[in-house]
Order: sequence, then C-alpha cells, then structure tokens
Amino acid sequence: MPLYVEVAISHIPRLFHYRIPASLEAVSLELGARLLVPLGTRVQIAYFVRSIDQTDIENIKDVLEIIDTTSPLPPLLIKLLQWISDYYLAPIGSVMKAAFPQKSQYKVTTAGVIKPPKQLKEKLSQAGLDALQSAGVVTPPLPLNLDQQHVYNEISAAIEKGGFSPFLLHGVTGSGKTEVYLQVIQKALEHHKGAIVLVPEIGLTPQLVARFGNRFGDKIAVLHSKLTPKQRYEAWQKIKNKEASIAIGARSALFAPMASVGVIIVDEEHDASYKQEESVRYHARDAAIVYARLLGAVVVLGSATPSLESFYNGTIGKYKTCSLPNRVEERPMPKIEMIDLRERASWVKPFLTQRLIFAIEKRLELHEQVILFINRRGHTPSLLCGDCGQKWQCGNCAVSLTFHKKEKKLLCHYCGFQQASPTDCVNCKGTRLLFLGVGTEQVEEEIRTLFPLARVLRMDRDTTSKKGAHHKIVTAMEEKEADILIGTQMVAKGHDFPWVTLAGIVCADFSLNFPDFRSSERTFQLLAQVAGRTGRGALLGEVLIQTFQPEHELFCVIPAFKPFYNTEMGYRKDANYPPFTRLILLGLSHKKEEEAEKKSEQLASILKKNKSSIEVLGPAPAPITRLRNEYRYQILLKGKDHLLLKSVLKKGLDIFLEKPQRALRLTIDIDPQNLI
Ligand code: ADP
Ligand code: ZN
Repeated sequence: MPLYVEVAISHIPRLFHYRIPASLEAVSLELGARLLVPLGTRVQIAYFVRSIDQTDIENIKDVLEIIDTTSPLPPLLIKLLQWISDYYLAPIGSVMKAAFPQKSQYKVTTAGVIKPPKQLKEKLSQAGLDALQSAGVVTPPLPLNLDQQHVYNEISAAIEKGGFSPFLLHGVTGSGKTEVYLQVIQKALEHHKGAIVLVPEIGLTPQLVARFGNRFGDKIAVLHSKLTPKQRYEAWQKIKNKEASIAIGARSALFAPMASVGVIIVDEEHDASYKQEESVRYHARDAAIVYARLLGAVVVLGSATPSLESFYNGTIGKYKTCSLPNRVEERPMPKIEMIDLRERASWVKPFLTQRLIFAIEKRLELHEQVILFINRRGHTPSLLCGDCGQKWQCGNCAVSLTFHKKEKKLLCHYCGFQQASPTDCVNCKGTRLLFLGVGTEQVEEEIRTLFPLARVLRMDRDTTSKKGAHHKIVTAMEEKEADILIGTQMVAKGHDFPWVTLAGIVCADFSLNFPDFRSSERTFQLLAQVAGRTGRGALLGEVLIQTFQPEHELFCVIPAFKPFYNTEMGYRKDANYPPFTRLILLGLSHKKEEEAEKKSEQLASILKKNKSSIEVLGPAPAPITRLRNEYRYQILLKGKDHLLLKSVLKKGLDIFLEKPQRALRLTIDIDPQNLI
C-alpha cells in the first residue's frame, strides 16, 4: 500500500500531499522532519505534518528525499510551534519556516540534488557581531547591591527548584537589570541548562550584546535577521550541537534548537517589536511564556516600563513581580521639566526653544553629552501649497510624503515611493510651498547652525542603513567623540552612555495623538526610555520635554510607572480594552475601494450574527485608509473569553470563505499591538 504524506511548505497557507516512493519506504517520520519535494519547477524543503492512507490528488508527485526522519527540533519546541500555529491561526508551514535556518541549503542542478557539506567548519558566528569583537576580555560578575541580590535570590531559587516560574522584573532605567540577567544565566549554566535571551531589534542594542559576550565568550550564539543563511545555519548548529548554551537574539531566537532550557529572558518586554507584524503575527514575549510553561522553565520579563498586560498579570499573581526601584550606586533619577511650546515667543528655531538651547549650551560647556529625540526621520513630515492648499501625498498610500532635504526628495515612509522635491505646486504652479512639522534631519541642520563647533551625530533609519553605521555612532558616543546625538526612537533603545546628562524631547505630542488605544502607553514608554538615557553615570541627568500640552496627566507623573499605570488602567477599563478584554483585528484590503468596503460589510454581518457575548465593531476604514495601492478596512472583535472569540471568528470565516475571495487580502491579528 502506498504511503502518502501531508507536508507544509514555507509560507504557503495550505498543506500539500506527496507520495513516498518505494525506494524511500518503511520509515516513520516525526512532525517537522524535513523532506525534499518538487513544487512546480523547483525543489523545496517541506516539513512533515502527518501520514495519510489516501489522497484525492491526481498525478501525485513523489517525495525526492528524506532529509531527516526525526525532527531536528527538540520535541517541546515542536509543541511551541504547534501552539503558535493554533493560537495565531497561522499556517504550520510558515511557523516551521520561522524556526529553521532561513533558506534552503539545497541546490538542484542537472546532476541532481546537492546537499550541504555534512560537517560545516566550526566557526564563531561572527557576522554582524561587531559588538562581540571585544569578546575574550571576560568581565567578572559585579557584586550585586541589596535590591539586585534580593531579586537574584528569588529567581535563582526558582531555577534550582525547577518547574515553570514566570517573573516580571520591574526595574527603573539604570537599576542594574542586565547584571541580574547575567548572573541568573550563570546559575542556569551551573545547573547544566541553557538560556535564551530575547532582545528587541538586536542590531540596535550592540552594547547589550557586548556585555553578554564579555561575560560568556563563545558560549553564546547570536541569532538575528541580518545573518546570511549560512551564518544563521552555523549559529543554529552551534546551539544544536551544544557548543553554545546561550542563544541571544530578537524574536526568532526563541526557536533556538536548545535541548535543555533553564531560563528565558525577555529584555524590554514592553517593546512593540516583539510582535511580528507580517506573516506569522505572533508575540514573542507571549510565546516565551507559553514555551517556559511547556519546558517547565523560568522566564523573566524585564522592563522599566512594563506593558499594562504584564504589570496587570503581576498584580493578579500570574507573574511574580520583582522590583529594582532605584538606580545602582544610589544615582538619582533625572530631573524632568516641561517646556510649553504654545509660547511661540520662546521659539528660536522651529521647535527649538530658548530654554532647550540654553540647556544644550550649558552641557557643551561642561563637556557633557546631549541626546535629542524626535520621532520622525527626514527634514519635514509634510508639504502644502500656500496658495491653493494642495497636499503632497503618496501615490500608493494615504499618507503625506516626507521631505528629505539632503536627497532633495519626497519619500513615502510606508511603501518607499519617491519623487524629486518640487519647487512649485503641481496644481496651481504657485511657489509658496509650506513645509510643516519637523524631523530629525531638520533638527540636525538647526543644531549645527546654532552650535557650529559641536560634534553632532544623527541616528535614524537614514543614517544607519549602511552596515556598521549604527555601531560607529554608538562607539563615537561611548568614546565621547560626539557631543550631541539626534535621533528617532533608536536613541531610546537601552544605550548606556555615562556622559549623557541631558535628554531633550523635541515634541512629545507627535506620538500622543496617534489614533490607537495604546498611544498613551507607547508615549509613556518612549519618553521614560529616552529619559532613562541620561544621568546613568556619576553625573546627575536632566530631561526637557517640549510639548503643546504640558498639563497632560502623563507628563505630570513621568517617569514614575505606578501612577501612570493606575490612571491608564482606569481608561482601559471604562473603554473595555486590554488587559480587560481580548481583541482580534481583521484587516481586509483590496485594490478597489468598493470591493474592500463591500467584503468587509459581508464579513462583519456574518460575524454579527453570533449570539454570544462577543462584540463585533466595524467595519471601518483603517486609520491608514490606503497602503501600497490597496484600500483597507478593519473589523475588531472584542471579548473576554479568548476561545469563544476564536470560535466565533472561525465559524464566521468558514461561511465567508465558502466563496473564494481571490483579490481580497485578509489578515488575522490575534492580540493586535497596533490598530493602524
Ligand atoms: P538597566 O539594565 O536596569 O538599565 P544596567 O544593568 O545597564 O541597568 O546597569 C546600569 C549601569 O550600572 C551599568 O553600567 C552597569 O554596569 C552598572 N551596574 C549594574 N549593577 C551594578 C552593581 N551591582 N554595582 C555597580 N555597578 C553596577
Ligand atoms: Zn506609499
């Protein structure tokens, strides 16, 4: 009797059937075992899902080769992948792909299938690890202060005891969380267990990676998206072969094939980048909790500004909360001052007030360093004709084009569309063009004019796109070869520059006015993190926040988390938003606006027929109504019971998808982080 298999292939949502030819028969395959199969004109790696006795596929093709009969992944990792697939309603093939080293190692030539060399030369996965270059100088553990000791004792007791144990480590910026992570990991290693460390956007946190490198040397394997397939494969092998017992990286480091995991650390657990916003829309922090439960391991979520969900979980006893309320060595928290942007008379340059300029001047005189934060890159975020009101919008997206002065271009930050910057209006030929708002490029320009002798650097996506550019900026700040660093949220990411004593927030209102229920939370996190960059060394830090709404309650409490948490939880409760309820966001996009609207209404009306407590909101146009030439609509499902929410959705989709919806793009976002 022929044997058929059902397999998953990369990102393709449906599963495929193949026949196992007689030459390959009599093997039992484990979930996730890899096969080579023909697909169209190509050969692909497929992941085994299950064996089947029959199939109704005609002219079924044969499996070409069985790469491995057992899954190369540890069984509990396979379980995690299954959970991700079920929970996030993502095809198992896409999930599996995320867990394996990217890209096929297999080439097909006229001579047949070429396998990768069996024994890859052992080599430290060096790529992109400029940060680890200083490895070799092993730095010994620091003697912990009393607070750190207390936290360490609790976590290491849990490691010794074994079993699932989730912690929330709430420690203010500069309180020494990283040192606690390092020593907790050491504890796990002593118990012959490994550690997984998740950091947001690893490329942006070279100092953190270096600290791990300096402590643990080549016990570390770094996994991140900039690795070449080969380097990724090597890092992966290093963990699998137990040459590395610590995996550090962004989201996907969770899928390191580590046989025995003692602790998972999620640094800056509140960071939005833990949620993957395409393909498999999983939240790596939440998946880390689930994985730790499967493993019976300790998981530590660390942050100075925990997400409301995590902090809430701490208050109801789901997580054990540990806190580091003070900075190390009794260093004080920075002093925070609001500057009222409504007082136009105090503006010296666009968005640069007398007060801020004076403060920068003072820091320069003292040979200290300054960070200026503005959350827009480019020179000017929008452009308007002063004669007829014509706006410059992207041709593909409903967003305004950003003026980039040096490149003399208008750019769409969403789809990359660009055009030469205009000198007159396309509509009325008027030449009175108004440049509205301010971005990093403009702040840099003005600061250079005001302080011609200062050494000014800019850190945003434009200045860091070249390999090594980001690292150069960080090093220059560390070595005090720069005086002023201007940048987007990249400057807020965990840097430890002891000579920075002033952080200026050019305009705090930009992120506050975002149409999303999390905008206050995001703003709080961002500002508290920027503030956390100052006064980390021996010198007292200062934070100046420029805003049009200085009386806003958020600014009155920053950077204290508790009062912010209490107020914000009140709003969330009143409006019935997470953590008081669960959400699923459905996105429907179509090239034709009427179609997008019609289909959204169809789906919403099917969903609204449910007789349960699930609320169905919408359809409504998405905040960004058009993106990459597609019109976008949204439906939001709200409900306390996650399983009920999913079953309502599944039933609705079954009906809706009875007819094929070819030109429609449907995205399902479970626990959405952004409602745009
Ligand atoms: P966080 O991660 O909470 O922002 P870090 O771990 O970066 O804080 O610590 C801030 C600074 O204090 C770092 O330069 C670190 O080396 C130093 N530090 C941490 N723990 C101690 C300690 N116990 N004694 C002295 N310095 C410490
Ligand atoms: Zn665009």
